[in-house]
Amino acid sequence: MPVWNEKYETMKRDELEQVQLERLQQTLNRVYRRVSYYQNLFNKISFDPDTISTLGDLKKIPYTSKDTLRLAYPYDMFAVPLREVVRMQSTSGTTGQPLIVGYTKNDIEHWTELTARVLYAGGVTKDDIIQICFPYGLFTGGIGFHYGAEKIGASVIPGSEADMENQIIIMRDYRTTAFACAPTYAAQLFEVMNEKGITPAELSLSKGLFGAEPWNESFRKEIEEKLSISVTDNYGLTEIIGPGVSFECDHKNGLHISEDHFIPEIIDPDTGSVLGPGEKGELVLTTITKEAYPLIRYRTGDLTCLYYEPCTCGRTLIKMGKIFERIDDMIILNGQNMFPSQFEQILTEAIGTAPKFQLVIDKKETLDELEIQVEISGDFFFDEMKKLAELEITIIKEVKERLDFIPKVKLVEPRTIKRGMKKAKVIDKRYK
Ligand SMILES: [Zn+2]
Repeated sequence: MPVWNEKYETMKRDELEQVQLERLQQTLNRVYRRVSYYQNLFNKISFDPDTISTLGDLKKIPYTSKDTLRLAYPYDMFAVPLREVVRMQSTSGTTGQPLIVGYTKNDIEHWTELTARVLYAGGVTKDDIIQICFPYGLFTGGIGFHYGAEKIGASVIPGSEADMENQIIIMRDYRTTAFACAPTYAAQLFEVMNEKGITPAELSLSKGLFGAEPWNESFRKEIEEKLSISVTDNYGLTEIIGPGVSFECDHKNGLHISEDHFIPEIIDPDTGSVLGPGEKGELVLTTITKEAYPLIRYRTGDLTCLYYEPCTCGRTLIKMGKIFERIDDMIILNGQNMFPSQFEQILTEAIGTAPKFQLVIDKKETLDELEIQVEISGDFFFDEMKKLAELEITIIKEVKERLDFIPKVKLVEPRTIKRGMKKAKVIDKRYK
């Protein structure tokens, strides 16, 4: 089983916890001395970072929220002077004001090591030709993976945002063996291949590394079959470092968290209480090696759970479940809570493949209305009105039964729904 960093990825639990404790002590001292937000916070709760003696002491510190980071815009959360910062990246700002995060030289080295772990666990070696199809720019996906792939010694193609057709031609002509991108991008790539009459057999692809968006097992199965590749998931977020926080090994049943750099916790998002192994809640992360932008108990907004069972790949790093939803994704319709992933599940079962869909929400007088717009692929009996009507009825019935809400359903032709790198599955017109 491929392990990039034997020392840290397979470290005995007690030794790993000792490493974590030492790094946590350093980080807490650093933020206390250098970040006024944490200095004020620690003073307010009478917390002395020098007194921390176990990892459990971390629980004495309140959570850090995204709002806190926004208030500190642009540089107030930085723990080093700008002359020590060698790189700036930014969050996308899809859920509010973008944030600026900084990296020191050491941060970049660590980040490179972390994305190398992701790629290596996904099967990428120095013999691979890897095409990075994430945007290069303020978004962390492109450049983050680029450095990790170079560290492994793979031949790196910075495909970035080349248009889809060019991306495929590059894949074919350069004989790309691995590619990293968002799952929706991979789905679009496959559609364009079909349109242009390029078959998977003409390509040399053998592995895909998907991240930056939630995706499910049926999508994995579909893409693995269609492209004859092995696909692994990875997770990260810009506030914490970018891609490289956690990754799947070839067992594909959970994402190993690089715990020598991050301490994970799962909390109840409503009460803030810490939950146990296997319990689903909000992921909270503490960085323990970051120099420029360290965060203590940061609430990620992502919902998952932690698994402590050993993995047969040999890594001792614990695993988190795949991220299916964010707290921000929750939709409230006439007082009922629901997530886009629940609609995805229903539509997948009804259609038989991973659906392309969007949810359009509006208000009629006092009641919320929802229209589910679903793309139906060309080979899906577009001329058979009866089958289409049956499909609509099935979707409405399932949504009513499972989510206690009666939606409208609109079946649309392929490529009607606008997609980008970011998920844009919910259009809420109620408050406009
Ligand atoms: Zn494993």
